[in-house]
Amino acid sequence: MKESEGCVLCTKEPATTKEHIPSRGVFLVKPKQYLTVPACERCNNSAKLDDQYFRDVLAACSTTEEGRAVWRNKVMARFKERPATKIGFRDQMAPVNVTSEVGGSMVLPGIRVNAERFERCIRKMVWGLYWWHSSRLLDPTTPLDVHFLNFVQAPAFFRDQKQVSIFRKAAPGVYRAPGEVPTFCYLFGITAEVSIWYFIFYRQNMAIGFTDSARRSADV
Ligand SMILES: [Zn+2]
Repeated sequence: MKESEGCVLCTKEPATTKEHIPSRGVFLVKPKQYLTVPACERCNNSAKLDDQYFRDVLAACSTTEEGRAVWRNKVMARFKERPATKIGFRDQMAPVNVTSEVGGSMVLPGIRVNAERFERCIRKMVWGLYWWHSSRLLDPTTPLDVHFLNFVQAPAFFRDQKQVSIFRKAAPGVYRAPGEVPTFCYLFGITAEVSIWYFIFYRQNMAIGFTDSARRSADV
């Protein structure tokens, strides 16, 4: 493990624990080399419930074999002992209007997602990986944009040539083993001012994170 004396997530407190990236619940089979970053107790503990929620929703939104397996073995398995989770999911179900090239316009069952909780999880991954790949701490006040794409929205997003050319320059992250990639992988790019992160869960759901340090100084 790389060393940092301070928590790389808040960059304030001393690091006393290790935070797994992505959170442990995402994988059914633990990766051989699980990436961890130094974190303080507070950052580590505060992320736990959000991480579980994040994983539950991603699995619920997946139709791939990997996503369904996580849904069955990790999410549904908890319904018995924690009926509130099931009720919580039911209450968040809502019809969504989806327009896609394949299906045209249709109404699908969807889940209302708590964007704040999702963004907190992405923030943690971005801050941790930024340090991991650049050996620099990312200032916690740096603005982060988060964009979610599911498999229905992805083709439209990648029709934008600008997005495609940025994506093509991205380098693969540390999870590259054939057993890991279908569950989770990421690509990234870091320059002096900006960083971009493509997180792909269960071959289907993509979260894009973008940080821009210049925007912060411009804002001040
Ligand atoms: Zn911290």
